[in-house]
Amino acid sequence: MINVDSKEAFDKTRKLLKEHHDWMKGTINLIASENVPSPAVREAMMTDFGNRYAEGLPGERVYAGCKYIDEVELLTVELAKEVFDAPHANVQPASGVLANLATYTAFTEPGDTMMCLPISCGGHISMGKKKFMGTAGAVHGLEIEYLPFDEEKMNVDVDEAEKKIAEVEPKLLLFGASVFPFPHPVEELVDTAKAHGARVAYDAAHVIGLIGGKQFQDPLREGAEIIDCSTHKTLPGPQHGMILCTEELKDDIDHTVFPSVVSNHHLHSVAGLAIVLAEWLEFGEDYSKQVIKNAKALGKALHNRGLDVLCPDLGFTASHVILADVTEHGLGGDLEQRLEDADIVLNRNLLPWDIREDRHYKNPGGIRIGTSEVTRLGMKEAEMEKIADFIKRVVIDKEDTGKVAAEVREFAEDYQKIHYAFESAVQAYDYIDVHAS
Ligand SMILES: *Cc1c(COP(=O)(O)O)cnc(C)c1O
Repeated sequence: MINVDSKEAFDKTRKLLKEHHDWMKGTINLIASENVPSPAVREAMMTDFGNRYAEGLPGERVYAGCKYIDEVELLTVELAKEVFDAPHANVQPASGVLANLATYTAFTEPGDTMMCLPISCGGHISMGKKKFMGTAGAVHGLEIEYLPFDEEKMNVDVDEAEKKIAEVEPKLLLFGASVFPFPHPVEELVDTAKAHGARVAYDAAHVIGLIGGKQFQDPLREGAEIIDCSTHKTLPGPQHGMILCTEELKDDIDHTVFPSVVSNHHLHSVAGLAIVLAEWLEFGEDYSKQVIKNAKALGKALHNRGLDVLCPDLGFTASHVILADVTEHGLGGDLEQRLEDADIVLNRNLLPWDIREDRHYKNPGGIRIGTSEVTRLGMKEAEMEKIADFIKRVVIDKEDTGKVAAEVREFAEDYQKIHYAFESAVQAYDYIDVHAS
């Protein structure tokens, strides 16, 4: 039975999209895995490339009609190699999860063991065990052993990890995380891992923009053989994935991504990736420096206002993200909702000790705060003080969220333009009305 009126549904969907755009204009977005692409990237995403197929590599396509598509993909690969100083790049994974799955598929068999971080310590669900329906366990059949973690330093415990790698002899060691405040000890562990037969990969979904801006670690130089990533977190590209690797692993990666994990690889996203990588050559370094300065400044500003931001002794972070234990003021899920009511958008997050203390991911003890998007809008350290005030008023002072929201909307009005990009006629959250109604 059809009880949806077609024109009504058509109009309603477009209305909701426009309302979302209007809402974004008045919010402060601190989601650590998000960013805003430039209008040029958004334009690429709307092109006819998004309607085409091009299975296989440029020059060996399974489809006709690819002459421009091939040129763009070859250019994207060249740009990626240049931005990340990588021997090889594959720009076909449709997402970060699929980049990880391609790496698992290329270098391990079901039943093999991978070592990585657990979700409570920042690991991503794509690295998860079968019992949690994680991609590694549930899709590729990997056994997962956790890297030992130092909760004080919010990082891999090098001495314990060295022992455990020697004991477990994993086929794959995967660095990287979704809460990634400090560089992982790749250099320190790579020899042990390789001596015990492991391939060494690094999931840079969160930090690839900072790596491209030369402001975080340099995993390929430190001994990692593969970098898997998303292209839309600290790198403000389209939602897509990418793999960088050594020359030696090039064919294994290229011949696994297609046909194992993609058929069509979203050609409009590849084009959008070319655009953001070109922007990165020009603006990546300045942007990355400011993102990190802002994250440190926001950590300090919140700490000074009484919030328990982790790792004060380490300057709170060396990336775009900070983590705060909010249990003195409530729970992460409840505070996430209160903050959203005040038009401040961020995530609740598990703390490494939450499970031990009987808290659950639905209402954990932490909140995760990222500075990628606010930096893209031109905010600097002075604005971090203002954002810290807003957060304090909601989380600690329990002020009326409607009252704070009104002030947040007024504050946000001044930050509507995309910075660290070539000039454009459109603002960050403008709805681009092609249908013109
Ligand atoms: C976000 C993320 C992914 C997955 O990326 P998608 O592009 O959302 O599929 C993988 N690994 C880590 C560490 C992440 O944070």
